[in-house]
Amino acid sequence: MGSADLPHRLEPFGIRSCEILSVGTELLFGQTVNTDAAHTAVRLSELGIPSYRQTVVGDNPERMEQAFREILGRSDAVVATGGLGPTRDDRTAEVLARVMGVPLEQDDGVLEAITRRFLSTGSPMTPNNRKQALIPRGALAIPNGHGTAPGIAARFDFHGEPRLAILLPGPPAEMRPMMDRSVVPLLEPFAQYRFLSRYIRVFGIGESRAETLLQDLVDRQENPTLAPYCGDGDVVFRATLRLPADRPEGEGTGPDAAGAPGPADLDRLVAEVVRRLGIHVYEVGDRSLQAVTADLLMERGVTVSLAESCTAGLACALLAERPGISAVLKGAVTAYDNDVKVRLLDVPRDLLEREGAVGAACAAAMADGCRSRFGTGLALSITGIAGPDGGTPDKPIGTVWLALSGPDGTVTESVRLAGDRNRIRRMAAFRGLDLIRRRLST
Ligand code: ATP
Ligand code: MG
Repeated sequence: MGSADLPHRLEPFGIRSCEILSVGTELLFGQTVNTDAAHTAVRLSELGIPSYRQTVVGDNPERMEQAFREILGRSDAVVATGGLGPTRDDRTAEVLARVMGVPLEQDDGVLEAITRRFLSTGSPMTPNNRKQALIPRGALAIPNGHGTAPGIAARFDFHGEPRLAILLPGPPAEMRPMMDRSVVPLLEPFAQYRFLSRYIRVFGIGESRAETLLQDLVDRQENPTLAPYCGDGDVVFRATLRLPADRPEGEGTGPDAAGAPGPADLDRLVAEVVRRLGIHVYEVGDRSLQAVTADLLMERGVTVSLAESCTAGLACALLAERPGISAVLKGAVTAYDNDVKVRLLDVPRDLLEREGAVGAACAAAMADGCRSRFGTGLALSITGIAGPDGGTPDKPIGTVWLALSGPDGTVTESVRLAGDRNRIRRMAAFRGLDLIRRRLST
């Protein structure tokens, strides 16, 4: 493991920014989703190496060369993926050699590894496989445990400045283990910073309202920083503290000797965000809304059942993602048809005839009936109009009523959800879970 995988190390220098270059015409066409860039970006941020730009370029040597030159003109390092295979359109190594101003040379160790791999698999080695043993002079080959193309790491001068280029093969099954096993340890000594991030997860408050409440903190752009991400329905704020890579672990939590912020400043920022957003914060950490809700039910030992109409079991299925939930989740009824609402949930038939299935009264009756049938501490009901048909002027598509029945009574609430049928269903299910969460958090 670690840098021992590489024959020797590259002399480190501080990388102020590293860009990601994804090579492959299939990426430009949208046939392949650029997961290599995402994986690389996550690793760079974990390493504390700032990354401000990503580029995608087709398998065209001129445009590839131009991309390398642009990137290396403004950034200290580049991680490129794709185009290292044996075929004629795989030109990344050759292009990098041109940018470095050095020839390609055969790496005997790589050629031997490729030959061994072909012997062990029994398939014949073709002359173009030898091409993969060619790497720019002075570069390091990064071993590939899952394919023939080695990766390449090179430190070189570009217009008098030190630069680092890493090339990895495109197939994620090859690229990911190489990134994690070899490239991350190789990059570690180049990092100038360490990032500590905390995620504050928010539900039930529009993204723009949440941002407005935090605008001054988001705009500040000081260390630690606060940045919003919008999920589908929930909003996540990431608070990030940048520490010098050489700050000793045991230095305490306050500012360092030079007055640079420390972990206590990150805690203070997180606490301020939580204070402003209040009950809408469902998690400071990594858990999903369904996980938080399930954990609250389990921690409190509160049993639960569900009566779902338009969501048809989605809310129940979300809760069931959490291991151990069987201790508190008793069951659910998918009551799509009004007859089922009457027979299995004891919703009065005349109520349905009078007020329809989408309203406060029906939602409450479903939750109460569910709770008494299942004998649970809480029962959640969801009934709404998911569309695309069935909307009316006073109950447009997206109208959803929810009720939560418990020992101190039944609360109902309605929401108007936007989107297509399945988004409305998904959001309604999350809304239901959030109703349980809010009940148990106060
Ligand atoms: P090979 O030896 O397979 O040719 P290569 O290094 O030449 O490897 P490419 O030819 O660029 O890589 O890509 C091979 C396959 O890897 C692509 O068809 C695609 O499925 C996948 N791939 C390439 N780039 C990416 C990327 N950025 N994200 C996800 N998958 C990718
Ligand atoms: Mg290829």
